[in-house]
Amino acid sequence: MSEEQTYGFETLQIRAGYDPKKHNYASTVPIYQTASFNIGDTDRLKRLKSKEEHGFFYTRSGNPTLDILEKRITALEGGTGALAVASGMAAVAYSLLNVAEGGGEIIAIHSIYAGSYNLLEHTLPKFGIKVKWIDDPYDTELFRKAITKNAKGIFIETIGNPLINVLDIETIAKIAHENNVPLIVDNTFATSYLLKPFDFGADVVVYSSTKALGGHGSTLGGLIVENGKFNWDNGKFSHFTEPDYKVENKNLLEVFPDTPFTTRVRLHYLSEFGAVLSPFDAFLILEGFETLSVRLEREVENTKIVVNYLLKHPQVCWVSYPDVPDERNHNNRQLAEKYFPKGSGSIFSFGYKGDQEHINKFLNNLKVFSFLVNVGDSKSLITQPSQTTHSSLREEDRIKAGAFDNALRVSIGLENVDDLITDLEQAFKESIK
Ligand SMILES: *Cc1c(COP(=O)(O)O)cnc(C)c1O
Repeated sequence: MSEEQTYGFETLQIRAGYDPKKHNYASTVPIYQTASFNIGDTDRLKRLKSKEEHGFFYTRSGNPTLDILEKRITALEGGTGALAVASGMAAVAYSLLNVAEGGGEIIAIHSIYAGSYNLLEHTLPKFGIKVKWIDDPYDTELFRKAITKNAKGIFIETIGNPLINVLDIETIAKIAHENNVPLIVDNTFATSYLLKPFDFGADVVVYSSTKALGGHGSTLGGLIVENGKFNWDNGKFSHFTEPDYKVENKNLLEVFPDTPFTTRVRLHYLSEFGAVLSPFDAFLILEGFETLSVRLEREVENTKIVVNYLLKHPQVCWVSYPDVPDERNHNNRQLAEKYFPKGSGSIFSFGYKGDQEHINKFLNNLKVFSFLVNVGDSKSLITQPSQTTHSSLREEDRIKAGAFDNALRVSIGLENVDDLITDLEQAFKESIK
C-alpha cells in the first residue's frame, strides 16, 4: 500500500506498512520466525552497513514482521516511527529511561498503571531517577510547579485507572514544552482509534498492546511511537547528541532526525536490555489491529448500556466513567467531550454498596464476566483493584489511584449486552442472599 496518509483509519489498521509484493505476494503478513538473517556475502555486508541496502541481521535489533507492526502503529498514530517491544512495561520502562537516564526527574500522576507506579516509586530511584507525583492532575499548574532544572519528562495516561480520569492533555503538553521537556503519554486504554495524543501535543506515545490493540487477551506486547517534533537538542538531553558508539560515534539526532527517540531505545535499551517481541506475537497483535475500530465501536456502545444500568442499581454507590457526572472527577465530562468524541472507551469502575463478603459473593457468582487482571479484551472482564492490581500499593497511594476498597473495575467486551446485564443482575441478587 502506498501514500498511506491519504487513507482512513479503518483501511490503515488492515493494510498500513505491508506490501505483499515484497513478501512472495502473501496475503497475510508472514511470521519471520527466525533468530538471525543470512548476510549472504561480504559485499552485501558492506552494503548493509553503509545503509545502501536495507536488511536485517538479528531479530533482537529488527525483524520484518515486527517492522510491519511498527509501520502500522506509526500510520495509525500519525507518527514518524515506532518500536515494538515484549510488553507494555518494557515500553514504559525503556521510554522513561531514555529521557531520564543519568539522574533525571519524571513528573507523573497517581492514577497510572500500577506497574508503572511501582517502576517510578521503587525501581527507577535505584537507578538515580526521581519522580515528582502530582496530587491533583486537574490543577494543571501543579505540573509547572513540579518542574525543576533536572526534569526530563512528564508521564501521564490518557485514561487513568482505576480512577478512570481524563486529563487536559493539551494544556499539560504546553507546560511541558514551555519547560523544554517532552510529554510521554500511555494511550493503552484509549487506543489511537478513540484518541491520537500527537494531535494534542504529546511527543511520545506508549502502549501495552496486550490490551485493546491486540484485543483478545492472548499476547503480551508493547509499542513506543514518536512524531519527531520534540527538540532533543535543547541542552537538557546531551545523551541524544553526544558521540554515539552505535552510529560510528556520530550524533544520533543527525543520523536519525525523524526518529531519534525510538532509534535510541532500539540501539541501546532494546539491544542491551533485550525485551524483544517475538515475531509470532507481532503477528497476533497485527491480527488484533485489523478489527480495532469495529471492536472499539461496539465495546463503547455496550459500555454505555452497562454503565446506565449500573447507575440506577441500588447496590451501586458510584460509577466512574468519563461520560458520567461524578464529584470525584469533576472535570471528566467536559474533558471527555473534547478528547473523546467517539466515546470514552470500554473500561470503567463502580463502587459496590456493601462489605467485602458481599463483593466476594458478587464476584464468585458471575458466570459470563471473567474475574481476572486484564482489560481491553473481546471478553468482558472484572477485577477488584484493591485486592489484585493495586494490592502492593500503600493505602494512601491506592486511594489516590482510585483503587478504593469497594471499587470494581470492569472492561466490557463483545458479548451480547443483554447477557452481560443479566449476568450482573443475578450476581447482585446472589450477593445479598
Ligand atoms: C497493562 C498496562 C501496562 C503494562 O503492559 P504489559 O503489556 O502488561 O506489560 C502499561 N500501561 C497500561 C495503561 C496498562 O494497562
